[in-house]
Amino acid sequence: MIHIHKGEEPEVLKNHKETWTKEYTEALETGDTIPNTIRYRYRHKDIKDALRKEAANKCIYCERKIPFGETDHIVPVSKHPELIVDWDNLGLSCKECNTYKGNYYDENEQLINPFEDQPDEHLLFFGPMILQRVGDMKGFRTVEKLRLRRTELIERRKERIEQLQGLIEQWNSLPEGKTKEITRKKIMEEAQNDKEFSAIVLAYLSQALGW
Ligand SMILES: [Zn+2]
Repeated sequence: MIHIHKGEEPEVLKNHKETWTKEYTEALETGDTIPNTIRYRYRHKDIKDALRKEAANKCIYCERKIPFGETDHIVPVSKHPELIVDWDNLGLSCKECNTYKGNYYDENEQLINPFEDQPDEHLLFFGPMILQRVGDMKGFRTVEKLRLRRTELIERRKERIEQLQGLIEQWNSLPEGKTKEITRKKIMEEAQNDKEFSAIVLAYLSQALGW
């Protein structure tokens, strides 16, 4: 998990959020089933595109690259219906993280919000493993609730590190010179924000090479 800069609010939201929010909260008050056309407006293509762009096509929680992804409400709509199309409340999430997070929300016991928090202030990354910092309950809740140590994620992170190791060995065996420098740059690029599991890669490079 990394900190993400919130992208620019899409035009469609700027223009319609007030009406859409009003229609949704009013429909909610009637107690009737809310039509999908009112309930799922946040799935609009322009909104999804903007979410994908700001998150570099990665889940904002587990940093997996995802082909489609779901739209997560940071604060669940069941708790705060007025935030249904609030731009700051929307993020791209994988199906699993979204499902595990469910409608969890507690004002006093929040999870890490990647748009507001610096995740590495709460979490430690060791190889494929993610741990909360000692005594950090926000980190603890986030790891447990989102199951950031689930087997499938550990496996994928392990593959990522092994792939990186290959590059590092190549770099290490090269004599000083341009080729070595290019290889080093290539390795550093793997830790950039748009790359899968960048938090883990960054931590690994720091631990393994002191970079
Ligand atoms: Zn995820």
